[in-house]
Amino acid sequence: MPELPEVETTVRGLAHVLQGRRIVRVEARRADLRRSFPQDLGQRLTGALVTGLGRRAKYGLIHTDRDDTMVFHLGMSGSWRINHATLEKHDHLLMETDEGTRLSLNDPRRFGSVDLVPTEQLSDWPAFKALGPEPLDIAAQELRRRLNGRTAPIKLLLLNQRIIAGLGNIYVCEALYRAGIHPKRAGGSLSLSRLQRLVPAIHGVLDEAIAAGGSTLRDFAAPDGELGYFSKNFSVYDREGKACSCGGVVRRIVQGGRSTFYCARCQH
Ligand SMILES: [Zn+2]
Repeated sequence: MPELPEVETTVRGLAHVLQGRRIVRVEARRADLRRSFPQDLGQRLTGALVTGLGRRAKYGLIHTDRDDTMVFHLGMSGSWRINHATLEKHDHLLMETDEGTRLSLNDPRRFGSVDLVPTEQLSDWPAFKALGPEPLDIAAQELRRRLNGRTAPIKLLLLNQRIIAGLGNIYVCEALYRAGIHPKRAGGSLSLSRLQRLVPAIHGVLDEAIAAGGSTLRDFAAPDGELGYFSKNFSVYDREGKACSCGGVVRRIVQGGRSTFYCARCQH
């Protein structure tokens, strides 16, 4: 499942081929993914110049000179493929640039989405309106303010998109491990000095994953190049029963219906 680093890597890869290019062809090969494609998608994008790309939480943003922004979400299984040699069954949306680059949004499980939002209304778009700050931008003081008075476990609060946007299960587990914070700790009970360890840990796990994904960008223009998935090495995530570097054992608990991995010796 694509997490924030994969989306960031995807956006950077797409920027290589889309930034400053004109979209000359758009073809939706079905009417919907998780929800319908905009009916006027082709009309609004065909001929548009891509003026910039960006990311908000786990959404990719493609800005055009028509004051529209294409907002995509990769859902559970989405990825963009560039200059595919053959069309695949799950290539649901195709685009071509004035340079002849062919892009396809592939999404076998179809939990992804594509929307067109007037660029100036992006911050008021329903999915964005209530989002907390970006995890790569947040400072410890700001996180402290947002956690103030909260009695829920820090693990669940960091997954709450209103507190901090786009941080997925994997990176919350890894960041709490790196900061030495027990996942069941009440969020509001964490001192500023502990949050001053947590915030760099969040930045670190995300930056390292983005850097790892960046190495896949070398292949971005290759035939059948696929953006957005890369292998990662985790300290605790999905390592139940395995050894922590301290000599302890990684444990798994369930919080809010999702697995949390942690080391009881390292995290308090
Ligand atoms: Zn440990």
